[in-house]
Amino acid sequence: MTFARTADPATTASHAVGAATELFRSLTGSDPVGVWSAPGRANLIGEHTDYNDGFVLPFAIQHRTAAAARLRTDGRIRVASTFAAEPVEVALDDLETLFPSDGAPRVAEWAAYPLGVAWALRALVPAWAAGTFAGVDIAIASDVPVGAGLSSSAAIEGATGAALNELWGLGLDPVALAQAGRRAENEAVGAPTGIMDQMASTLGQADAAVFLDCRTLDTRAIPLGFAEAGLEVLVIDTGVKHAHSTGGYRERRESCERGAAALGVAALRDVAVADLPRAAELLDEVDFRRVRHVVTEDQRVLDTVAALAAHGPRAIGALLVASHVSMRDDFEISIPELDTAVDTALAHGAIGARMTGGGFGGAAIALVDHDRVPAVAEAVRVAFAEAGFAEPHLFTVVPSAGPHRDV
Ligand code: ADP
Ligand code: MG
Repeated sequence: MTFARTADPATTASHAVGAATELFRSLTGSDPVGVWSAPGRANLIGEHTDYNDGFVLPFAIQHRTAAAARLRTDGRIRVASTFAAEPVEVALDDLETLFPSDGAPRVAEWAAYPLGVAWALRALVPAWAAGTFAGVDIAIASDVPVGAGLSSSAAIEGATGAALNELWGLGLDPVALAQAGRRAENEAVGAPTGIMDQMASTLGQADAAVFLDCRTLDTRAIPLGFAEAGLEVLVIDTGVKHAHSTGGYRERRESCERGAAALGVAALRDVAVADLPRAAELLDEVDFRRVRHVVTEDQRVLDTVAALAAHGPRAIGALLVASHVSMRDDFEISIPELDTAVDTALAHGAIGARMTGGGFGGAAIALVDHDRVPAVAEAVRVAFAEAGFAEPHLFTVVPSAGPHRDV
């Protein structure tokens, strides 16, 4: 049985913290001065709405990325990760040159995440130019599955940002750290993602989701009450890796931009469900379906927030399923493994299920009665075997807190 019972958040955090500390010691021969960690996230609902100025409802999970760090005196930054073969070291003054605005980063892609955060923090802190920042060594380890749609990218950005925020005495709030993470991902890595993941990670709270208006960046903690209702969130990680920096994600964004331009609005956030017939007249068939997904998904997020408040988590199942169908048929970002995961979970008693994350791979989530979790997990495993898919990775996630200093 490959299904792991709900992890103890304290245990998973200490795993990454311990591994980062160990890596730091082997890298530098000394102890870090501190270890900071930040969570990955699962998106309950609201997919591909973030870069359309819309609404999302993610929650931080107990899986975390840890950054063990210590200042150095020579103005250089070195990053290492258990995920990568080689550390990368560069002078802080040369960070700029690693991330040309018109091309791929001149550094191993993984290192563009933490180095990109360091670079992005400069824009927020004018004192940088005066050379007041010491160099730093950072060693990173993570419990967040990479490329599974659980935002290992926001976790590494959040952990790096939390470490630098304290070591450099920047005093930035969680929203500013989220913005630095997004800038790193967009401009240093070159992945045109929205700000949802970073906000979900930096503003995470136990037992709550982050309701985020991606236009105003207003947030509200939305109590989820899963445990109280006897529900668990089962993650079905298909193991199929996606990469945000390539193809399909960018094409979807371009469809959305064309849709907004044709409709004469700043972003698809400004289009109501009632406006869709007009969109159908103005857009080609494919762009229209992309637009319909985003517009209806925004409404489903609002409906989910309302349903949670009025009736609790058992009332949101149909909205999760409608979200999946929209992503499968209109936005066309699902894959057979994700559809099998969702269909099988629902057939075996899940209250709701949908793919989560940017699509083209990654994970699905299913909202399942506590007692039924093993049966649903087993059914998914069997269905994957019968379809000839790789064995999925099954585990439950718990809405958890944002970044903090662990040591
Ligand atoms: P997701 O955020 O869904 O996991 P992304 O493609 O957005 O997937 O981000 C994954 C990328 O982030 C990895 O390919 C790697 O470059 C970087 N990354 C994430 N976690 C780590 C880590 N612990 N160490 C080094 N790089 C990491
Ligand atoms: Mg990501």
